[in-house]
Amino acid sequence: MWIVSRDEAKCEGCGECVEACPAGILVLEAGRVRVTDETACLGCETCVTVCPTGAITIQEV
Ligand code: SF4
Ligand code: SF4
Repeated sequence: MWIVSRDEAKCEGCGECVEACPAGILVLEAGRVRVTDETACLGCETCVTVCPTGAITIQEV
């Protein structure tokens, strides 16, 4: 499975990752991204690619 980490200090709440995630597990909450169901992450790295501030990293465990 994958661990999805986001750096809240870097997240600008643009929503790009929320729109792009094919698994639909990212949401915006109070202007910051949150992962709703990490176990459903596909490991596609789309969120990592689209994030303009480098706020998201994923790691396989
Ligand atoms: S790696 Fe892919 S499936 Fe996982 S949170 Fe990012 S965009 Fe969604
Ligand atoms: S793409 Fe990056 S800056 Fe935009 S909401 Fe997602 S984590 Fe935050």
